[in-house]
Amino acid sequence: MQNYSFFMPTRVIHGEKELVNQAGLLKQLGNKCLLVTGKTSARASGALDDAVEALTSQGIRYELFDQVENNPSLENVGAGGEAARQFKPDFILGIGGGSPLDASKAIAVLAVNDIDPEELYRNQFDNRPLPIVAVPTTAGTGSEVTPYSVLTTRELETKKSFSVPELFPRLAFLDWRYTEKLPLTITRDTALDALSHLVEGYLSQRATGTSDLFAEQGMKLWTKSLKSLREGVLPPEDRDRLLVASTLGGITISYTGTTLVHALGYSLTYYYDIPHGRANGLLMAEYLRYNAEHVPQRVTNILTWLGLNDIEEFAQIMTELSGPMVELSAEEIKQYAAKAVTTKAALQSQGEVTEEVLERILQNS
Ligand code: NAP
Ligand code: FE
Repeated sequence: MQNYSFFMPTRVIHGEKELVNQAGLLKQLGNKCLLVTGKTSARASGALDDAVEALTSQGIRYELFDQVENNPSLENVGAGGEAARQFKPDFILGIGGGSPLDASKAIAVLAVNDIDPEELYRNQFDNRPLPIVAVPTTAGTGSEVTPYSVLTTRELETKKSFSVPELFPRLAFLDWRYTEKLPLTITRDTALDALSHLVEGYLSQRATGTSDLFAEQGMKLWTKSLKSLREGVLPPEDRDRLLVASTLGGITISYTGTTLVHALGYSLTYYYDIPHGRANGLLMAEYLRYNAEHVPQRVTNILTWLGLNDIEEFAQIMTELSGPMVELSAEEIKQYAAKAVTTKAALQSQGEVTEEVLERILQNS
């Protein structure tokens, strides 16, 4: 029998315009707010306007840090931390894809701890992070309900996460309208990230009866949007389903962590600038083949919930949504496998994950 606990402290609020309708909840977090966003999408999505309306209606003062890069680096969140230490907010409101949401978490720590951003990886801070509010504008990472912040470290030439329980956002607002203007490629890339959290969470050695519930429901919901994802035109109900599925994926990995797909995918993003979700999509079919050797019933369940006949059909869909794999040299394959093999994510995968296993997955992908 398995011992486990359930902890998901984020209040998830789903629905159109709820950020404005429930602005009173923001007031409970304080009187000063730092808004953290990427360069353009928070404005373009309409989420920033809603946030400003909500804050203004409650008399909450705010400043904007809108310099978050894709796959934010330690230096990038360091600049946000500096801005936060000057402004001294009571809480952080992050708007965007996973990059601004993860940066918000780092900034929530740096706002009250004047440390080198490198020290975030120690996962121990003198002062507790500020409360975080998360407003996703992509349907992908699930960062709005996870305690993880994934940051790029140039020193280690990869992406690495830090995590403390207080990084679970206090509030997450799921409003599909903020994802409406996502271009098709980003919609697909981020949908693949959501799927990978659901699939990897279900195949993680740390999966529990509880995490399985979220993974199963998430996959069943995700697949209802598959037809429109393939055709390239997404009606509101499919955008909404993908957003909820991605939150379910986030809840799943908040228990289970990710597995070798993420561990390998980080190198594809670091060295080839392949968007995070697409990198996962490129590796997932081969990952299912590997898992079929260890947990065949689980792989069968995944295919059933996704409404697919076999791994071949899954592979075909991954290729269709993520496009062609980059050509990797034998040397690159060795290097990426060596980098991934020691990570926690690789160790949480089924079977014994050796460098050879990872090389084979990269080779065959
Ligand atoms: P992203 O890096 O946040 O954003 C990618 C691009 O999409 C950016 O150019 C962004 O523009 C644009 N964009 C975002 N929302 C948009 C909208 N509504 N309309 C038009 N364009 C929009 O992408 P992401 O895939 O959501 O996040 C990836 C990051 O999350 C990675 O660093 C990954 O490692 C991390 N991640 C974290 C977790 C976790 O648990 N914390 C889990 C998985 C992945 P702007 O730059 O203008 O914003
Ligand atoms: Fe991810």
